Amino acid sequence: MDISKCGDWFERRILDRFLRYVKIDTTSDRHNKHHPSTPGQRVFAEALAGELTRLGCAGVEVDRYGYVSARLAGDPAAPAVVLIAHLDTSSEAPGKNVKPRVHEKYDGRPIRLSRDVTLDPATSPDLLAYAGQTIVTSSGDTLLGADDKAGLAAIVTAVEFLSLHGEARRGDIEIVFTPDEETGRGTDRFPWDKIRAKAAVTVDGSGDGIVEAECFAAYRALVAVAGRSYHPGEARGRLVNAVEIAAEFASRVPKEESPQATDDRFGYYAPVEIAGTIENARIEYIIRDYEDAGCRRRIAALRALAASLARLHPGAVVTVKAARQYSNMKKWIDGSGSPVLSVLKEAVRRAGVEPKEKSIRGGTDGARLSEKGLPCPNVFNGGYDYHSRAEWAALPAMVHSARTLVYFAELWAESRPSASK
Ligand SMILES: [Zn+2]
Repeated sequence: MDISKCGDWFERRILDRFLRYVKIDTTSDRHNKHHPSTPGQRVFAEALAGELTRLGCAGVEVDRYGYVSARLAGDPAAPAVVLIAHLDTSSEAPGKNVKPRVHEKYDGRPIRLSRDVTLDPATSPDLLAYAGQTIVTSSGDTLLGADDKAGLAAIVTAVEFLSLHGEARRGDIEIVFTPDEETGRGTDRFPWDKIRAKAAVTVDGSGDGIVEAECFAAYRALVAVAGRSYHPGEARGRLVNAVEIAAEFASRVPKEESPQATDDRFGYYAPVEIAGTIENARIEYIIRDYEDAGCRRRIAALRALAASLARLHPGAVVTVKAARQYSNMKKWIDGSGSPVLSVLKEAVRRAGVEPKEKSIRGGTDGARLSEKGLPCPNVFNGGYDYHSRAEWAALPAMVHSARTLVYFAELWAESRPSASK
């Protein structure tokens, strides 16, 4: 099918959707154990379900956990695929009252979004590629929500295009929108019973042309310090202060292995939360590395540090509890024998961009899905500088993303998915 002449249509449809989606507050809350963790995600899920129904999808459902599933029926003899994006936005920057700003014919210069937020090509060099074109930013008071509303807009726009242009042969397009990806629980209640496809794609990557089939292996470690409290007036030689020991612990974890000091293929430790009193203090760490062994080495180092601090502070009990969160999806995708990654790269190429294969310095819903037998690489959605007030999206890249999905549907129909669930 020739979609190269439909540029204006894609621009209008995807921009209209994106501007509507970002205005709905779907900030997730990692401290709330409900599914979904916030009510806004359900409101948004229902709105998307209505939209998919109007576009001709069958089996549209929002389940009790907030997952949206739907199917755009195709040729039952052709292989199906699942397209996935997430409903929630990160709680690391405010996500309520997002007021998107559309900058047509962006002049390539720094944009002062608010008193203290400036989007500057000096620190966001990807902006330079979009001088003269349309970009979307926030007002500087909130994040924008391109992560992952640009992915949702790309999927729904591709679905709309495919339902309007039934001429090309393709299999079923299965759709799953997940809540709470940002809390790490995006696949906990994944609707496996709704899925028949043997491969999936998450549309949750960033800049133009990016394809990702590798992510970090991830562990969480909880350091607990138990001290001993006495009235400060009678504390000499007796009080064991868990607050101080926890602070000492945090200060001894190597800072050269922190997220702010590393890039490329280097892993890290990151303390993400600390709390405590004299009697009990705790620090939560996330540990990331492309190799499982790199994570295990860091957990062993935390345990050794705990043992040495316990010896330095008689009376203190310092423990480390570690748990695996997800593993590097590369081995599962490679091991599946599925052509999903090569077909995805070809689809990106047909959409008019040279694919750039990158390794995610983070996780993705696809990591758990790939491990469970549904190989699931990630593709770009056209958003940049995620989880910040300076987050922005490039309309040309958003259009490339939607068109990649349309081409993927067509190419996938001709492929021979060999993966088995
Ligand atoms: Zn995301």
